This record gives sequence, C-alpha cells and structure tokens, in this order.
Amino acid sequence: MSNDTTAHEYDIPETMKAWVLGDPHEMKLIEKPVPVPGPAEVLVKVGAIAVCHTDIEVLHHGHPAMIEGQLPFNKEFVMGHEYMGTVVKTGPGVNEWQPGDRIAVEVHAGCGRCQKCREGMYTSCHNYSYRSKGHRANGFTTDGGFAEYAVNNINTLVPVPDHMSDCAATLIVTAGTAMYGLDVLGGLIAGQSIVVAGAGPIGLMFIVVAKALGASPVIMSEPRADRREMATSLGADIVIDPTAEDPVEKVRSLTGGKGVDFSVEVSGVPSVVNQVLHMTNRGGRVCLAAFSNDLIPTDLAYVVSNNIYMFGIRGEGRSAVKRVASLLEQKRFDPTPIHTHTFPFEQADTALSHAENQTDGAIKVVVKMG
Ligand SMILES: [Zn+2]
Ligand SMILES: [Zn+2]
Repeated sequence: MSNDTTAHEYDIPETMKAWVLGDPHEMKLIEKPVPVPGPAEVLVKVGAIAVCHTDIEVLHHGHPAMIEGQLPFNKEFVMGHEYMGTVVKTGPGVNEWQPGDRIAVEVHAGCGRCQKCREGMYTSCHNYSYRSKGHRANGFTTDGGFAEYAVNNINTLVPVPDHMSDCAATLIVTAGTAMYGLDVLGGLIAGQSIVVAGAGPIGLMFIVVAKALGASPVIMSEPRADRREMATSLGADIVIDPTAEDPVEKVRSLTGGKGVDFSVEVSGVPSVVNQVLHMTNRGGRVCLAAFSNDLIPTDLAYVVSNNIYMFGIRGEGRSAVKRVASLLEQKRFDPTPIHTHTFPFEQADTALSHAENQTDGAIKVVVKMG
C-alpha cells in the first residue's frame, strides 16, 4: 500500500489473452475484454500464477467453481486463484491501493452482506457464487488469474515483500491456507506438537508456518520419499513413512504415548482421517483441510471419549494471508523450495497437466507471464 502522489500511469489495452474453460477437460487460449474494476476493486496485471490441485478439479468437473449457481463450462470462465501481480488501475473511490503496488491475492471476497461475512467468515459466505450480490472468489465464481489481467476486491490484496520473486509470491496464498488452519485450531502456541499428514503444497506450508510459529515437534507423515525429503529440508523435526511403519504407533511413541496437540489432514486419503484422529492427544484438535468426494468412516467414539475437537477449513479466511505475508516479510520462513517448475503463459495447459501428473516430482508449478 502506498500514498505515492506520483502514482504510475499504465496503458491498458482493450483486450487480453486469457485461458478459459471450454468443455470439461478443455482449456483454451482466447482473446477477451480486459475487465473494468468497479467500486472497491482494482485491476491487476498478472505477474505469475501457481497451479493448485483445485484448478485441476475445476478443469475436469467444474466444481467447486460456480457462476451464479451454475457450473463454469463454456462461459469463457478464467480459472486460477494463486497469483500475484501489479495494480495498474483503481476503481471509483479506491485510494487504499495505487497503480504500481506489487501484490499477491487471497481468493475470497465475500458478499459483505450475509451473516457469515458480517462475522468475518467470508470464505463461508451464504451468497457464494452470486456475483450479483457482491460475492467474488476469483478462479471459482469470478474470473481468475490465468489471464493477462484480473479484477480484485481491495480486501483480497496483500503487499509482496520486496525480497520475494514473482514466482515465490504466488505461494503466499497457499501459506495463508496453512495460517488459517492453525488459526481455526485456536492458534498454535510455541512448544505445542503437531502432525501433518500429506506433503502436498498445503501440507508442506503447514510445516513451515507451524515451525515459524514455534511448534515443537513438527511431524510429517508422507508415503513418498522425495516429499519426505522436502519436508525435512523445510524444517520438519520428524518424518514418518506410513508404508514402512504404523504412523499412529510412531506418533504415540514420540509423544509419551499421548499423541499430539494438533493434527492436520491434508492428504485427501480417506483412511488417513482415522489415523490423524488416533494420533491426537485427549482434548487435542484436528484440522481437516482436504476435499474428499467420498463418505469417510471415522472412529467417532474415539473422538467423543477423548474430547477431541474437529475443524473443517475452507480457503484462507480472517485475513490469514495478510498475516502470513508479514511472517514472510520478516523472513521467518522460506517457502521457495516448494516451487519446483515454471512454464510460460502460452503453456499454461501444459503446466496444469504437469502439476496433475506430478511430472519430474512437481510440487508447485508456476506460470510466469512474459
Ligand atoms: Zn489453491
Ligand atoms: Zn456473504
């Protein structure tokens, strides 16, 4: 944010290149009008955008993207929600940001008028997908970042620390999801123990953010050796291979038989939900952060008899992205190793398939604008 009175002027073209959804499984590069920012909005020139597993879900099934209650296919819908860029134009009445500001984004701007938004729970907005009621979730309900330009609500912007590259800055929103998960669990207290099941990008972010906040020990359970190595290099104190040893027994033996204070399920593997419950201490807290398409049998008797609290999280609410950006500004952690591959904008479709197939050990695949 700046109050620079000599703000930059940018030439903004009429049209832009954008990757849009055609039929299911189809992404096509078209020319479409550059969007115009309204009140409380800015126009962002996209600098870089990371591929998220959710983008792949949207490409194949449409869901969880919705536009005015409908699936987004063949509506020239632009997906992509983990991007950064530069503010190039402000909407009417906007002075919170100036052209030239370098920003990263969070996804959800709730409608601001429903009870959940009024409570600050804008990722659970009751008017989800209804742009006509003011809701925006770029890449889910409104056009996202696989384009040269995107419109963002002013409340979804966070400043990018000067020392961060464009590609690294796309990871801020992912780190924000981990921060939000820890917030929802009640806030991590230094010296408390945590186990994270699943070393995908969000799981790895839980490791670095928990570590930055002083959790101890920080434990990762992950079947893939390369991902366990990544977790170790990012600061996990202990890594467990659940295919080689019983992860529940291992976590219990590491914690004097009691289990951890906090556990996080981000693997999306149904059987792992019960594992993390059984890894959790009496009175402990469990964060469920992976979308699952299946009904998952769980040992609820264990949850009840041990006073365990379970929390589902969606996205990155309560300005968690802003707070995690502050940790990055202070260089309290370095997420850059999670970014493994880079593609040019013209190959965004290849970038998605690369991320989907985890080609060459891909974790975060980033598309960099020209
Ligand atoms: Zn995402
Ligand atoms: Zn709302």
